[in-house]
Amino acid sequence: MDRVKYEIGDVVRLKKMHPCGSDKWEIYRTGIDFGLKCQGCGHRVMIPRVKFEKAVRERWSQGVSDSQA
Ligand SMILES: [Zn+2]
Repeated sequence: MDRVKYEIGDVVRLKKMHPCGSDKWEIYRTGIDFGLKCQGCGHRVMIPRVKFEKAVRERWSQGVSDSQA
């Protein structure tokens, strides 16, 4: 049972393609609902975590560390 941990800044590929032609989304909010920003057009959506996890095909972690903060 390994649970994928999604973090803000991660980019995911969803099964469903956005009308703009992009299937990549950046996570900008996590929690019960996930906030996703389309990498193609910048459109933002909120979807429940359960739905989101089922829709994800691939995930790239950004590995961004904010040591400057
Ligand atoms: Zn789009």
